[in-house]
Amino acid sequence: MERTYHRPQSLEWALEEMANPGAVLLAGGTDLLVQWRELTEAEKPQRIVDLSGLDELRQIREEDGEVVIGSMVTHRMLAQSAVIRSVSPPLAEAAFSVGSPQIRNRGTVGGSLANASPAADLAPVLVALGARVCLESRNTRRELPVSAFLQGMNKTALESAEIIRSVKFSAPAPGLQGTFQKVGRRNAVAIARLNGVCLVRRDATGRLDEVTLVIGSATPTPLDMSQEARELLAQGPEPEALRELALRTVRRVEEIAGVRASARWKFPAVENLVLKLFRVSDEGGSEHE
Ligand SMILES: Cc1cc2nc3c(=O)[nH]c(=O)nc-3n(C[C@H](O)[C@H](O)[C@H](O)COP(=O)(O)OP(=O)(O)OC[C@H]3O[C@@H](n4cnc5c(N)ncnc54)[C@H](O)[C@@H]3O)c2cc1C
Repeated sequence: MERTYHRPQSLEWALEEMANPGAVLLAGGTDLLVQWRELTEAEKPQRIVDLSGLDELRQIREEDGEVVIGSMVTHRMLAQSAVIRSVSPPLAEAAFSVGSPQIRNRGTVGGSLANASPAADLAPVLVALGARVCLESRNTRRELPVSAFLQGMNKTALESAEIIRSVKFSAPAPGLQGTFQKVGRRNAVAIARLNGVCLVRRDATGRLDEVTLVIGSATPTPLDMSQEARELLAQGPEPEALRELALRTVRRVEEIAGVRASARWKFPAVENLVLKLFRVSDEGGSEHE
């Protein structure tokens, strides 16, 4: 069968194309083109629908107290966006940590979510922000929390005719501070071996009134430890409570991912990451120019 390439100029047109059986979306191509080389001729998609003509999906905007990020927004746009840097510096940090300038220039938010790599850098931050994925097909529209959309390694709730239109979250109330941290094999072009995000807020009396902690890359989907963090740190971020939180995180990773060869370095790394995430967040978050 002949392979065809389509570059729609509107979302409606793209949705029509995706209604054809076997159609596959192409965004920045940083994942798809790598995977392409691994496929046999018979496995390669017959109909490629390139989203690069859709400027309407390449916008970041604030709408009714929500931040809406179009699926064709690149990591570079996210890292440089004044809106993102002001409402959620950790999301800008996560985008800036992705790959190399070339990958950040091409790789998109939609592609990252659809690919559902456990090592993705945006996913833990989007889960921490309570973000929702907006999905559209020719006849349907739905929204899912990112935590429900991501279902496992390279596994999502995306249906074959659906396009991720955007991802959105409520702009956090002022006073929330936090950080994204990544542990890689090297400093540049490093796929995360471990990453995570922590968001905290203290009330007027200095008491912690909000704690969110999500660890990525250690389990197939981001591990949300916020409930445990809230319970353990309710009395204050005492060193014992923090150490207990770190140990419980390690135990949860072990329950979900099992004990692998990497456990010898990974478990202490998870523990250190939790302690660092909390310390940097509580000290005011990462520095931004
Ligand atoms: C050298 C290298 C380094 C990398 N480093 C990192 C890193 O440090 N951190 C990180 O998180 N990632 C990293 N990546 C992974 C990659 O860059 C990201 O996952 C990227 O965001 C994918 O987006 P894309 O636009 O290139 O997707 P594509 O490759 O175009 O598509 C990926 C998948 O998503 C689907 N898709 C794309 N857009 C949509 C949409 N709107 N709706 C539904 N499905 C869609 C495609 O059909 C395909 O299945 C790296 C990749 C490479 C090659």
